[in-house]
Amino acid sequence: MKTVKVNIVTPDGPVYDADIEMVSVRAESGDLGILPGHIPTVAPLKIGVVRLKKDGQTELAAVSGGFLEVRPDQVTILAQSAETAEGIDKERALAAKKRAEDRLNKRSDDTDIRRAELALQRAVNRLDVAGN
Ligand code: ATP
Repeated sequence: MKTVKVNIVTPDGPVYDADIEMVSVRAESGDLGILPGHIPTVAPLKIGVVRLKKDGQTELAAVSGGFLEVRPDQVTILAQSAETAEGIDKERALAAKKRAEDRLNKRSDDTDIRRAELALQRAVNRLDVAGN
């Protein structure tokens, strides 16, 4: 089975590094599936789930936007924050979700709303990856 090296990197350091059969991401332009040998490309990402297929199994990671860089033998995901399913603290994500929802219900000014919406998306994304 052909594989490609996938790295997920954040300002805090590397979060993931493995040889992968297929990786799929949520790019700003839509969902992208990357196989080994994919043409070089760069794409901005949404807050979303990264699916990493390895030995016939799919691992998940949560990323808070960032960039995808594809080279023929290497895929790099650069994100402000990223966690694998095991790395997610569910209680913290639930608390962040509640905080964001409370802020959105109060609705003070526009910048707060956008910020709360993004915090809510990050929290929901983490809960999706952590599973129930
Ligand atoms: P919170 O309000 O709980 O900090 P946040 O969405 O504002 O959530 P980020 O700014 O995206 O947090 O991330 C800050 C750091 O905390 C990153 O290193 C990120 O990986 C980590 N992090 C945030 N939430 C969680 C979580 N639920 N489980 C594990 N790590 C988390």
